[in-house]
Amino acid sequence: MSTCESCNGTGIINKDDKMYECQCSFLFRIKSFIPKFILRSEVTIEHIHQMPVKNPFKNYYISCYFPDFKSILKCCMIRYSNKSIKVTSDKEIVDVFVGSRSKNSKSDVISGPIYNCIEDLVSPPDILVIKLNELVYKNKAASSALEEAIICRIEKDRPVWIFSDKARPFCSTSSAYSDSVYEQIANNFIDIKIPQILKRAVDSDAFSVSIPKNTEPDQKSTTERESRRPDESYKNPPTRKPDQVFMSPDDFSDIKKDDSNDDMSVFGSGRSKKKKW
Ligand SMILES: [Zn+2]
Repeated sequence: MSTCESCNGTGIINKDDKMYECQCSFLFRIKSFIPKFILRSEVTIEHIHQMPVKNPFKNYYISCYFPDFKSILKCCMIRYSNKSIKVTSDKEIVDVFVGSRSKNSKSDVISGPIYNCIEDLVSPPDILVIKLNELVYKNKAASSALEEAIICRIEKDRPVWIFSDKARPFCSTSSAYSDSVYEQIANNFIDIKIPQILKRAVDSDAFSVSIPKNTEPDQKSTTERESRRPDESYKNPPTRKPDQVFMSPDDFSDIKKDDSNDDMSVFGSGRSKKKKW
């Protein structure tokens, strides 16, 4: 790794007798806490002008394609780098709710942080982001768990974003759906629909989580067929390109990944060519 020419690797710049953080240090900090699957998202001016970026400290129910959502998250994580933004999912919430990721589950297989209860999981961050429809199998506790997570944030007046992927919208057949979850969202959230910005936005289904063995093979197509908001445009997903970043459920909790060997830029694809600072 080459030494920064602006600050000689100190991370500090002295200008007019004042100390400033060098850009290299800022980028290094950003890289250390932005999850990899968000870090490489392309950001356009349209993303920057979306309401959740301008004022992130509200409750939003956001419908858009996942690549655009990742770009919006990246904007926020950079702009509000002094705030903690945690991305979780209905699946992780249910896992914590039923105890499979709790201290008491006595499993050695689980990696990542351990949460004793939903409050542990959802309370700390300044902004909590819940990605829906990560839970692909039916679970009786799912809607209660999701509702508890939402209420936990609302009661404390802490902002929460709920994200519904346009490629797989949250709907009445979703695992974590219930009428009372719907009511919580309808009563407490600002509904935001963001039109497709990135051309490759339809790739968003490609990160799909693997379906557990005990799930009927036709469940996904059934869900799509009965969806209240079917997206007709999403029929022929392009094939995977080698440089695209795909997400597994574990990526949600794995925010502290070591990305220190990757190059990034604040805007753009995050895959800038190697350059001297
Ligand atoms: Zn520097």
